[in-house]
This record gives sequence, C-alpha cells and structure tokens, in this order.
Amino acid sequence: MDVVTHAGRFIGSAEEPAGTAVALFGAPFDGTTSFVPGTRFGPHRIREVSDGIETYSPRLDRDLESISFYDWGDLELPYGNPVAALERIEDFAHSLFDAGRTPFMLGGEHLVTLPAVRAARAAFPELVVVQFDAHADLREDYMGEPDSHATVMRRVVDLVGGDRLFQVGIRSGTREEFQYGRRHTNFFPGAFDMATMYRIAEAVAGRPVYITVDIDVVDPAFAPGTGTPEAGGWTPNELFEAIYALAGIDVIGCDIVEVCPPAEHGVITSLLAAKLVREMLLTFADGP
Ligand code: MN
Ligand code: MN
Repeated sequence: MDVVTHAGRFIGSAEEPAGTAVALFGAPFDGTTSFVPGTRFGPHRIREVSDGIETYSPRLDRDLESISFYDWGDLELPYGNPVAALERIEDFAHSLFDAGRTPFMLGGEHLVTLPAVRAARAAFPELVVVQFDAHADLREDYMGEPDSHATVMRRVVDLVGGDRLFQVGIRSGTREEFQYGRRHTNFFPGAFDMATMYRIAEAVAGRPVYITVDIDVVDPAFAPGTGTPEAGGWTPNELFEAIYALAGIDVIGCDIVEVCPPAEHGVITSLLAAKLVREMLLTFADGP
C-alpha cells in the first residue's frame, strides 16, 4: 500500500510499525468539500504541530511514550478520482483490521469516514458508530450526489442501521435531517451535556465502537480552521470531557476529520486536533 511518510511522525510514535497496536494515518481527501477546501492539508499540519505539545497528559496521568502506536504517514490518493480515493482508504483500513491493528485516521473531509466504517463493519459486524459533529450529515443526497461530506452519516445508516448510530453535538442541518435523526438514529443535538455522554457510554459498553470526530463540533472561536464552521459550538474542554466519559468502551477504530489549515491564520485548530489525538490515544489505547 502506498503511504507517503513525511519527515516527522506524530509525537510519541514508535519508530517502526512492528508490534504496534494503533495505526495513525492520514487520509488527505477533500474532493466533495462545498465551502472552504483544504482539509487535504489537515493530517500533515496536525502531525507538524504535534511537536509543540507534550507526550504526557496531566488529566489522564498517561504518556504517549508508553502507548503502542505508529504513525504511518499519509495515504497517497488519486486526486480527481473520489471513487478510487475512497477505495484506497477502505483497502488500507481493511489491511489494518486484518493485521489486528486499530485504525486512527486523520482527515480529510468527513466523507473519508465512510470507507473506514465499511472496513470496520466487515471486521466487526456488530459495529456501532459515535459521531461528534456540528452537522447531522444525514442528507439523502447533496446536489444529486449520494456520497458527500454532507451525506456521510446517512450512508453510515444505510450500512449499520440508524439504531447503531449515536450523533452528538448536532446544531445544524435541514428540517428533514433533524426529523430523520430524531426518528431513526440515537440523536443528541445541541449543547454539551455530561449525562448524555454517560448514557451513550452505557449504551455502547461491550460493543465494538467506531468514533468519528468532526472538529467543527467545537465552536469556531476555538476551531476556526474547518471546512464548514458553525457558530454556537462546544468548548475544547467539553469535547475532551466527552471523550473521557467514554473511557472503558471498546474503540476498534476512530478518526478526526475536517481540520482545514488554509481556512485559518495560525495553527489553533491543528493544535487542538493534535491534543485531541493524544487524549483519544491515551483514553482508549491499552497500556500503563
Ligand atoms: Mn461532518
Ligand atoms: Mn460538520
């Protein structure tokens, strides 16, 4: 599988893939982006700024140095051919599951979650999906296109069923999407609420879980560098607390998507994403 390895790996990554459990990799795809393009630059920038944070999490009292993970670099994707790009992501995720590894994907736009979830479901038929997002992403199609960042969770519902999708933080969508979510998915729109997170943790306990974090769940004041910013979002600490609330569940794969470096001046959003990578690794990966 073609993987482009940049000079630096994510902070704390093992030097070699052999024997590592979690596979961090970039899926630099932004082929269906409708507003600000550039999420293809997300994984590289997140990796780059990770040098600016510590490997140790005071909140969790755990250190990346003692976690078994390897940063594989970015997948080489054929730009201009979304179908082939998504296939390549799915193939790579399949190869990781086959090797018993846990994929941790950095997007890219949200559509990259679809091939990852396809591979996850092939490996774990009982899969459930937890989505953090400002947007429902439940459109049946977007401008006639069935596969888009705006339809990705509807495609996930087609795949796993609405009863296996948990949607949190949603504050934007069409009336139809909200009606669909309320009827067919585990739909928790709006403000952060710890009780909701514990409810979700209880509901998914003991089941194989794929977590997808669209960075725009966080307020644009804290995460302006994203493709489709939506005012009125969570604070970074609320997102971290939401992740900590899920500690103990069986995460078989996860991603962070929609970080768009060209949409901001500076690296606020990429730094937030880098810390989120660390806290998710330290919350869900095995180790001391
Ligand atoms: Mn999304
Ligand atoms: Mn979104």
